[in-house]
Amino acid sequence: MNVIHISAECYPVAKVGGLADVVGALPIYQNKLGVSSTVIMPFYDNVFTQTHQFTTLYRGSLSIGSKKIPFSIVSLKKSELNFDLVLVDIPALLHTPYVYSADDTERFIAFQTATLDYIISQQELPTIIHCHDHHTGLIPFLMSHGKNYTALKEIPSILTIHNAQYQGWFDYEHLPLIPDFDRAKIGLLDWNSTINPLAAAIKTAWQVVTVSPSYMAELQVNANGLETLLQHEKQKCTGILNGIDTTVWNPATDQFLPKTFGINNVQSGKKANKKWLCKRYQLDPKKPLFVFIGRLVREKGADLFNDVFTQALTENDIAILLLGSGQSDIEDRIKELITPLKGTFNAHIGYDEQLSHVMYAGADFLLMPSRVEPCGLNQMYALRYGTVPVVHQIGGLKDTVIDISKNGVGFVHQQLTVSAICKTISRATKFYSETDKFKKNRILIMQIDHSWDSSAASYISLYNSLIH
Ligand code: ADP
Repeated sequence: MNVIHISAECYPVAKVGGLADVVGALPIYQNKLGVSSTVIMPFYDNVFTQTHQFTTLYRGSLSIGSKKIPFSIVSLKKSELNFDLVLVDIPALLHTPYVYSADDTERFIAFQTATLDYIISQQELPTIIHCHDHHTGLIPFLMSHGKNYTALKEIPSILTIHNAQYQGWFDYEHLPLIPDFDRAKIGLLDWNSTINPLAAAIKTAWQVVTVSPSYMAELQVNANGLETLLQHEKQKCTGILNGIDTTVWNPATDQFLPKTFGINNVQSGKKANKKWLCKRYQLDPKKPLFVFIGRLVREKGADLFNDVFTQALTENDIAILLLGSGQSDIEDRIKELITPLKGTFNAHIGYDEQLSHVMYAGADFLLMPSRVEPCGLNQMYALRYGTVPVVHQIGGLKDTVIDISKNGVGFVHQQLTVSAICKTISRATKFYSETDKFKKNRILIMQIDHSWDSSAASYISLYNSLIH
């Protein structure tokens, strides 16, 4: 079985968030199970592409409206990633150091068109085409109704929704950018009088998957406008919980850590990483350390952080460290906290892969007060690194973190209010002071299996059900 994953992000080539981690791990685990998985993604101008050698597989030219744009398809010379990586190189649109920007409509329509042109040029067509998020949402539609792609009509297409908040909407002015299709089917592109690539994919993909079962249930009532569509398409929707790549995320071998550790030396290992963090960010290593790692957006509850941090630090003898970037107003407000809360709070505003690993390793608790969390990977990384998650009961967090009072492994608040989050932080702080219990729990949580093994197998069963 040959599966092609199509995505805007893939770790370690280009990462903005969890999408990259999933697309960089799922193919590895599928390959282990005997499926041949390839990832196709844009060729950005970044450290990865600047430091690797590629072989050209195909050259073509796209018509985007009235413009003719040359592109090439390249592959990684020596597969270092345990899966085949194919990059779509469109210098005029995709040679950027960033993944997303204001002109994404044109960029990602071009990416999808070049991808389909390449796939259809191949002698051997794939068994399955697996699309990820709205950036690839026109592909299932074009496979079914694109005039140039009729040979792909019988190939099952799958859409995984990693985040339904972002749908890639654009207005009808941009319609000429889309390759020629059966005009009778134009309604399939539409949702609320705009072209909506995510909605188009939900309507036309053979199967729709969300990254956790709870998120699938939540989308039926809250999907940023797509609720009724998801209710209507319910019979072809399913939730498969993401896994984590336990070779990349392994505290015993993690090259990013000042000190690696396993179950046998978890206490000293975590202590060394905490010391490194606390020294760098001028925090007291004797205090329980709570961290947040992620995008600074409303979805992650980041609009509440200033109030939460101020109140939690008044009520508890703790330290808080934040790593993130996102909305500039939220970033600015967080920066304003650093001086007044010096010694108990610090923040690194930006993206730093290495620091994130050390934070999972050195923290005592990970905060995830998400408003929306399709799956969430951070809580699974935290568990593997012996760090206790403190989470809002939503989406994938509901499926992976049960409260300690119910024989679970973390701390859960049902409501998303400053007072509910602070109460939960206080409960966690109290648990930290029960040293024996706290230390035992660390060993327990590190052993929970959140690897991709079972989820990769679930995806393969799904593929098989579509083929037969
Ligand atoms: P989302 O995809 O919604 O951002 P996930 O929990 O699915 O959230 O995945 C987040 C991933 O991005 C994790 O690997 C996390 O460690 C990483 N991450 C997020 N923000 C940063 C940052 N500022 N620096 C380093 N890694 C980050």
